[in-house]
Amino acid sequence: MLQQILAEFNHSDTQLVAVSKTKSPEQILKIYNQGQRIFGENKVQELVTKYEHMPKDIDWHFIGHLQRNKVKYIASFVKLIHGVDSMNLLKEINKQAQKEKRVIDCLLQFHIAEEQSKFGLDLEEARTLLKSEEFKKFAHINIIGVMGMATFTKEHQQIKNEFQYLNHIFKTLRNEFFEEKSDFKEISMGMSGDYKIAIEEGSTMVRIGSLIFGKKV
Ligand SMILES: *Cc1c(COP(=O)(O)O)cnc(C)c1O
Repeated sequence: MLQQILAEFNHSDTQLVAVSKTKSPEQILKIYNQGQRIFGENKVQELVTKYEHMPKDIDWHFIGHLQRNKVKYIASFVKLIHGVDSMNLLKEINKQAQKEKRVIDCLLQFHIAEEQSKFGLDLEEARTLLKSEEFKKFAHINIIGVMGMATFTKEHQQIKNEFQYLNHIFKTLRNEFFEEKSDFKEISMGMSGDYKIAIEEGSTMVRIGSLIFGKKV
């Protein structure tokens, strides 16, 4: 299964983020040794510890909800922050990135699922954000795309619709705010249960955990 999944993405345009939250360094090294270099974590402390103890050529993505007061712990090394959904968070990322003399890649997170959630923007909120003078001054943030999670359901068509909607949001924002040659080209969608649908609907980045590591914690 593992070989198969890694091979599937070896020759694909879709990037595989191996979601290694709760997994031990030994478990991660096993996947690393098969060639995987992008790993995703959703807890700051866990990410920092793993970053410190693991090979330095790993690209670490932060995929969870990021609290403002914790940005400083990951700003020196994080490769991509998937779940950015507020001006305040952007402001803090910009500030910490500036301290590190870096530009940090970020994805705007959208709420596309039917489940209630405090997290994620809608299209109008994203427009307001991207239009604002404050945002335009952020020299240490590079918005490279969008991220979203579909409803946890077996309804194939519903998941498909939600991913289509995220793709629509992506295209709309790209047309309105980004030049054709900009870095704004990523759609992070798809997890173990729905990544095939996500790829059909234009995902450029899937975040897969249990299918790679197994369900056991
Ligand atoms: C845990 C997690 C994943 C991976 O989920 P699996 O179902 O184990 O593949 C993907 N994205 C986010 C944001 C997660 O928290």
